Amino acid sequence: MFLFDAHLDLSMNALEWNRDLTRPIREIRDRERGQTDKPDRGRGTVCLPELRRGNIGLVVATQIGRYAKPTHPLGGWHSPEQAWAMTQGQLAWYRAMEEAGEMEQVNDRAGLEKHLELWGANGVPVSDPARSSAGNRAGAETGVPKPIGYILSLEGADSIITLRHLERSYEQGLRAVGPAHYGPGTYAFGTDSEGSIGQRGRELLKEMERLGIILDATHLCDTSFWEAMDCFHGPVWASHSNARALTPHNRQFSDDQLKELFRRGAVIGAPLDAWMMIPDWVRGQTTPQGTRLKLDKMAEHIDYICQLAGNARHSGIGTDLDGGFGREQCPMDLDTIADLACLPVLLKARGYSGDDVESIAHGNFVHFLRRAWK
Ligand SMILES: [Zn+2]
Repeated sequence: MFLFDAHLDLSMNALEWNRDLTRPIREIRDRERGQTDKPDRGRGTVCLPELRRGNIGLVVATQIGRYAKPTHPLGGWHSPEQAWAMTQGQLAWYRAMEEAGEMEQVNDRAGLEKHLELWGANGVPVSDPARSSAGNRAGAETGVPKPIGYILSLEGADSIITLRHLERSYEQGLRAVGPAHYGPGTYAFGTDSEGSIGQRGRELLKEMERLGIILDATHLCDTSFWEAMDCFHGPVWASHSNARALTPHNRQFSDDQLKELFRRGAVIGAPLDAWMMIPDWVRGQTTPQGTRLKLDKMAEHIDYICQLAGNARHSGIGTDLDGGFGREQCPMDLDTIADLACLPVLLKARGYSGDDVESIAHGNFVHFLRRAWK
């Protein structure tokens, strides 16, 4: 089944983890043997060949560069200009992948349809029960690897120096922005902080609305979330968030927030970062084996969203795999991202129809983009 992943930090892995994502996963892991600079060394789960193997042909891929004042709890670049330069370097990597035929930027309706056709995933409308699962045709026949489609997104908007930079980013293909990441940001307060989006946040949202950029509600703190919902009238999604009811933490959404997202037509991508899947995870101590955390937990989170919405139209996948963690912090039955292919089976076992499973696997996000880009 064709899969859509709404959140992958691919360029961050390429540039900050120094991973050549065109190589096989074993090779990437082998080259990191003995390295200790990051906790997930040798435990990566994402590369382009594994995306293809899992039939994950379309992803939302991030630029990410945090600007941090001296008091910021997590640190980051010391000026917005440095953060901007980082994200421009990340864009340069995506461009290089396009030139190599490995990836393809998808930034409008025509490009979306063309890309889905290449992957045999555009057959008939999302709501049509009679569609086929043609799957992986094109590449299998020609032997040439199919490019992974990517929708460019910015996680945390601190790197946007002025609104002119946002417009320039739009011209570069940027189609979604999450104003916040962790802690206090320039345009909003993020996870583990609390505060207003302020004047700059309102101006950013207004410009996003004018340009037609999707608001990614993930990481907004509660105050910033509700303010953003009040003043932004464009398309909203949540690329990688779970429900607070199952994993109590400000990083996840309350039922009221989820209902507001449903009302706005949002799709919520389910992540595979263990600390967001089960309560009381302690980084570096708790293990997937110790908690018997498996992919079925993801199906449980998806089911929670669907039950709350009363339908399967607002749920999708947003794994965040290799977003600063690896196999040590994701379900024990996932070796690489290709194992996501098990998700449809797990959903069917919970009683989901073939149609609903396809909607969750890719249809809901595809339908969202068709509406946003009509
Ligand atoms: Zn994130």
